[in-house]
Amino acid sequence: MPLYEYELCEGDCKVCNGKFTLNRPIERPTLTACPLCRKPVRKIISQVNTPRHSKPVSFSDAKKAGFTVLKRLGKGEYERQ
Ligand SMILES: [Zn+2]
Repeated sequence: MPLYEYELCEGDCKVCNGKFTLNRPIERPTLTACPLCRKPVRKIISQVNTPRHSKPVSFSDAKKAGFTVLKRLGKGEYERQ
């Protein structure tokens, strides 16, 4: 179930602190008012819903990212690449 983040369009709310998250079924219409204080809200694009890149990391990518790749030479022996 996607996690939606909402914030008040204007003003403050002591009930929801002006910002809240909500788990809603995707088929439900977008929330337009805070269910707690009834003030108008807008949906924030949540980072939770950002598609994750599952691109496999290559050896050179790992090295560029600062990884030190060790090659196993034998039992307990490794060589820096
Ligand atoms: Zn509220």
